[in-house]
Amino acid sequence: MTAPRPSSPRLAGVVGAPVGHSLSPLIHTTWARRAGVPFHYIPIEAEGGDVGFKRVVEGLRTAGFRGVNVTLPFKEAALALAEDASAATAAIGAANMLTFTQDGVIADNSDADGFADGLRETGAAPLRSALVLGAGGSARAIVYALRSLIGVENVVIANRTRARAGALASSFGGVQAIDWADRDASAADADVVVNTTSIGMARDGASTDATPLRLDRARAGTLVCDIVYAPLETAFLREARARGLPTMDGLEMLMRQALPGFRAWAGGEGVVDQELRASCEAALSARGAL
Ligand code: NAP
Repeated sequence: MTAPRPSSPRLAGVVGAPVGHSLSPLIHTTWARRAGVPFHYIPIEAEGGDVGFKRVVEGLRTAGFRGVNVTLPFKEAALALAEDASAATAAIGAANMLTFTQDGVIADNSDADGFADGLRETGAAPLRSALVLGAGGSARAIVYALRSLIGVENVVIANRTRARAGALASSFGGVQAIDWADRDASAADADVVVNTTSIGMARDGASTDATPLRLDRARAGTLVCDIVYAPLETAFLREARARGLPTMDGLEMLMRQALPGFRAWAGGEGVVDQELRASCEAALSARGAL
């Protein structure tokens, strides 16, 4: 096998359904331009469920792609098709990165690192207790990040469907599931609150005025995070700011989860800074999601 010429373009992308809304192409293209590397990153829509997804991944690998990010609804399918996965990815049970190597397809999850790095950047005091709202796909990465990367001692999960919260809690130590109805009271005990539900997200028929939690019982200084990034300022974050609480929005996690992919596939170091954030905000604004 001949090695690729140094100037041959490096290819990667993001696979999902739908994928048109993804900000990942903008983030990677911005870093490639800044680093001056011949790297192309494109959005690819996979049709036909998990079978269609697998076919797309095989096709991209054959075509010489170095890897792909994976988004909804294929993060579990991505882990299932990989030959190997990091211990963290196996614990989370879902992958948002597939890297194509000579030894096979390697699965990783950079959502957890992206969230944890964003939390560290807030400069918050040591976080000992957390309330996580939601138990869907992204909640697993958030709970893993809080317990294993940040070292939060007590994590409480509240989810509309109680059984999903119970299942998520039982797969991690130091995590407790509570009833959805008890979440407002539980906020009083939390150093950090994280919304991982889709409440407040701009989507068909849903109100962006809705919030997942009342904050009137939250302590002063409680860090309020929302991983929803469209709109960027959710009603939940707006209320937190009005109460003088520190916040972290979904873009902070989204920008940072892209760093390992850029390193692995473009061979460069991305930088999360105000300029990148401004580009992402402009893209969200253009689609009315700021
Ligand atoms: P998901 O797997 O579909 O889970 C959705 C969650 O929201 C479930 O816990 C669901 O509860 C809950 N939910 C939905 N509607 C609700 C309602 N009306 N009342 C109460 N709970 C409700 O979605 P996901 O993949 O975890 O994504 C969730 C959000 O995170 C999306 O907005 C997504 O864009 C965002 N996200 C952001 C990033 C980032 O990098 N910032 C990364 C990943 C995801 P049930 O279990 O009861 O249905």
